[in-house]
Parts: sequence; C-alpha cells; structure tokens
Amino acid sequence: MTAATATEVLVSSPVADLESDGLLGEFPEGPRLVGTTCDACGNTMIGTRIVCSDCVGTDVTRVALPTAGVLYTFTRLHVGAEGVRPLGYVDFDGDVRTLADLRETEDAPLMPGIRVALGVDGDAWWFAPEATDASIAPAATEATEASEEEK
Ligand SMILES: [Zn+2]
Repeated sequence: MTAATATEVLVSSPVADLESDGLLGEFPEGPRLVGTTCDACGNTMIGTRIVCSDCVGTDVTRVALPTAGVLYTFTRLHVGAEGVRPLGYVDFDGDVRTLADLRETEDAPLMPGIRVALGVDGDAWWFAPEATDASIAPAATEATEASEEEK
C-alpha cells in the first residue's frame, strides 16, 4: 500500500482544458460554434475551455463564435462509399482557426481565401461558400486581412 501511494505521487495528470468535446451550442441568436474568451488576456479559443491556452488564466467566458470566416486551405478526402468529404481550416472573423467539414457545389466551388458561412442541421455543422452564385472570386483582399488577424 505504501509503495502504491508513492507511485501515485510520481504520476502527473494532464490538465483538462476542454469542458466538453461538443463544439455546437445553443445561443439566443441560434445554434453557433462555442468559443471561450479569456477575461484576463482577451484570447479567444474554440470550444468550452476552463483554462486559457495563452495565459493559463481560469477566468474565462463562454461565447458564440462568428458564423462566417475565410477558408484558409482545404482538401477533398475520398472515403470509400461515402464519396468525397471536403475538409479544411476556417479562420473565423477574429483570431480563431478551426478544422471543419466543408460543402461545395458546382456553382460555388471551394477555393482558399473565399468567405465561408456556417451551416447547421441538428448536430451536424459545416462551412460552405458564403455566396451561392458563380460570382465567387478568390478574394485576395479578404485573405490578406485574415492573415493579418492571425497570431
Ligand atoms: Zn488568457
């Protein structure tokens, strides 16, 4: 028993920073991806955090993340019978980047730098090109602005 106690003292546990794995939450304005803003340093993170990943502060506030952003980059996974699953990084308006499922159509193909908007259906969420007509341009200006917002 004494030896077991000594072992327990030597074992360190990781500090949990996520309260939940679910990223979708209900807010007064509707379903949104959940973020956490640090009250001490202002850092915004994706998910429901209990510790700031920047300053390790524990005074944090649950926030609704923006419903639009800029597609940083993406790929198309070919998954057996499921077909093609586009997956990419979205930079929210602000300084949060997340990996997300993507949707596209022939009229609104995915391209790095385009504006994308959040879509929600039940527990499923994804991002798709904000404009649904063929007038989507690579939007170099917006991509430049987004990269300036990155940390
Ligand atoms: Zn902080």
